Order: sequence, then structure tokens, then C-alpha cells
Amino acid sequence: MTTTIEISRVADRTAVLGPGLRAVIWVRGCPLRCPGCVAPEDLPFVGGVTRTIDDLAGWLGGLPSDITGLTLSGGEPMAQAAGLSALVERIRADRDWSVMSFTGWTVEHLRRQQDADQIRLLGQLDILVDGPYVAARHADLLWRGSTNQRLHFLTDRHAPSVQDTSAGIELQLAEDGVQWVGVPPVPDFRAGFETAMRAQGVEIAPFTPTNPTDEGGR
Ligand code: SF4
Repeated sequence: MTTTIEISRVADRTAVLGPGLRAVIWVRGCPLRCPGCVAPEDLPFVGGVTRTIDDLAGWLGGLPSDITGLTLSGGEPMAQAAGLSALVERIRADRDWSVMSFTGWTVEHLRRQQDADQIRLLGQLDILVDGPYVAARHADLLWRGSTNQRLHFLTDRHAPSVQDTSAGIELQLAEDGVQWVGVPPVPDFRAGFETAMRAQGVEIAPFTPTNPTDEGGR
């Protein structure tokens, strides 16, 4: 039984990665290599932090009640489906969490694979954003980076938004600088933003596992 999850970082609160106010877990590692991935430092499966499901459940359970959702990003959440599925089951025993996940695979691929852990996690999700990021198809979309990526409302908990444009980027103050969260509405946002901020003398918080609330690119 899987009892740990390899993560890059977490965020206590965001309004730009799914409906309402949500916590975020950026898992560590992705087997895909989409050119233009905004968080290439998250792609190796090593170099993150090993967190127990007990530890993550305790963190989520301690968040204020206005945090109603959990978003799974990365990295590739479906590569750690066993641990994430166990975590979702655990936290829903205490609170009726909305759960959303990103994946670089399509939902059809996941269903064809018939991986028991991935199928279990799929069955727990309210929303899935699927498909790899394709830089040539970058567009200003709600919670997605490119036009091939799709929003699947897998339960009736949330209604599709009538406005399909970016939820925007959040800037958050960190001890070691400014950090940003969200799916950029324009291509090459990260490099341009970080260059512009540094030109103004604003330090960008590093994407490190010790910084719990910086951006995962989706
Ligand atoms: S965009 Fe997503 S699926 Fe593609 S390499 Fe990056 S983390 Fe993996």
C-alpha cells in the first residue's frame, strides 16, 4: 500500500487553478517532455520531498473551511495515482473536498491503460484537465495552456464556466521573493515575467521544494 507521495511543493490557497479557493499539490516527476513545459525543474522523479499521506492529510485538514478544493498538478499526478487516490479518500472522510487534477495524458489513454490506481483516481475527480501542453497551440483558456487540452467535468459538482478565458496569474509574497501561480495566458510568460521583475529589483522566489507555495505552471 502506497503511503507516501513525492512532491515539489504545495500551496495553501489559490483562486486560479480550479473553481473557488483551493489548495494545490504539485507532485514531483513527469514521464512526458512537452516542449515549452513551464516547470521543467519538476520533471525528474527525484529531487523533491517525500511526504506521507498522513502528513498531507493533516495539512489539508488544518486549512480554513473556505478552502473547498484540492488541485493536483505537477509533474504528472497520474504517475502517482496510488498515493493521491489514497490521500483523496482519506481527506474526504473528513470534508467534502472538490478535487481537480491535471494530466498530460488524455482521458481516453488513461481508460485504455486500465491501470487500477489511475482508474480509481479518475473516479474520484470532479474535474480533469487532460492532454499534453503544445506550445504551438498556446491560447488564453480557463485552466489550460493550449487548445488541445480539455476540461472534463466528471461529476455534477461544478458547472462549466461560460467564460473560457484564463483565470489569471496570482502573485504571492514569499520570504525569498515574489512567486506566481496559475496557467499563463500568453506563451513564454515565465521568462518574460522573471526578467522584467528582476530588472525592477524584485527577486523571484526559487522553484525549490523548500518553498511551499511557488508556481507549478499549471
Ligand atoms: S506540460 Fe505537464 S505533461 Fe507536459 S512535460 Fe510539463 S508537467 Fe509533463
